[in-house]
Amino acid sequence: MVGKREVIEKARECGFEDTGFTTAAPFDSQRSLLDQRREEYGWAIRSGLDLIAGTDPQTILPGAKSIIVLVDAYFREAFPPSLERHFGRCYLDDDRMTGTRLGKRVKALRVYLRENGIDSKVPFHLPHRLAAARAGLGTFGKNCLFYSRKVAAGGSWVTPIVLVVDREFEPDEPTLEVGCPDWCRNACIAACPTGALKGPRHLDPRRCISYLTYFGEELTPRELRAPMGLCVYGCDRCQNVCPRNAPWLARELTMNRKAEGMVEDFRLENLLHMDKAYFTAKIWQHMFYMSDAGLWRWKANAARAMGNTLDEKYVSELARAFRENGDERTSAMIAWALGRIGGPAAKQVLEAALPGSSSPVREEILAALEGTPATGEC
Ligand code: SF4
Ligand code: SF4
Repeated sequence: MVGKREVIEKARECGFEDTGFTTAAPFDSQRSLLDQRREEYGWAIRSGLDLIAGTDPQTILPGAKSIIVLVDAYFREAFPPSLERHFGRCYLDDDRMTGTRLGKRVKALRVYLRENGIDSKVPFHLPHRLAAARAGLGTFGKNCLFYSRKVAAGGSWVTPIVLVVDREFEPDEPTLEVGCPDWCRNACIAACPTGALKGPRHLDPRRCISYLTYFGEELTPRELRAPMGLCVYGCDRCQNVCPRNAPWLARELTMNRKAEGMVEDFRLENLLHMDKAYFTAKIWQHMFYMSDAGLWRWKANAARAMGNTLDEKYVSELARAFRENGDERTSAMIAWALGRIGGPAAKQVLEAALPGSSSPVREEILAALEGTPATGEC
């Protein structure tokens, strides 16, 4: 009968640098936290991710006895800076849709377990960071992220993957604690541009840029647009400033070839002008939290990032998108971006668009013109 040692060895063979075990007991602390913060997490439940059910492994696999947690580093190789500027690193080599890398490795381990009489399920809605700490694989950061005890030089550039199994394994010693050094004065909380980190280990997901870029239901509120900076999809700021991540950030890594191949397709101009066919062929398999129904938001995200570059080279691209785009939410953001860049060329585009405009684009144009220097002034 396979034991922990054999599973760990097989997991290592499948490319997982660290493996831990915990019981299949319910995650009661997470359940009460979700109960207390229903307002903050209600959107997840409404969108079909039943986080409450995920706190009880029995709802995932009836007869569950243990949870095996695997640690995968998603930031193993370097990413092109032009992509890191706009996209969260965890999406730059994400093959969950194509199943070419991680999916195959998880599958290989599950086949091995199956061959040894162990049934397994890989849920998305189980609290995976909590499971990883309960399995002794690392600690928490005040930024709510999970820090590995040994992968990525102890950094947070990891994804814990959980396998709920029907075989009992001896649980590892939990490490359910915050591992931040005393001398770090909450750099992550201070650096969060949208105030999503309300305190140590308290995140309001509705203000987090990651949420806002792909799950935000409506146009991003005006007061959050400038703080969102250059982010188009995801945000790594609270990880970039963290001293616990500095050792890995200092490593000289070889370039990730897959991500290098994405540079052209993910240029802001191409995202702003893309149609459904382009999105389906080039974007969706890498970043799939929005379907083609969210194309307007992709474009609005690209427009907002362009605006926040303050670079006049984007005015002509925004002007073209203003003419060709059919969604008023995207047009509203384009108007905002033009106002943010400012200058005579941007003002001219806004003035030309004003007569034929209607709400809400009209309000955005007027607000943008208020903040844009008059023609001839710069
Ligand atoms: S990911 Fe960005 S927006 Fe979200 S908590 Fe971290 S710094 Fe704030
Ligand atoms: S920035 Fe400081 S407080 Fe925040 S997670 Fe890192 S070490 Fe902890």
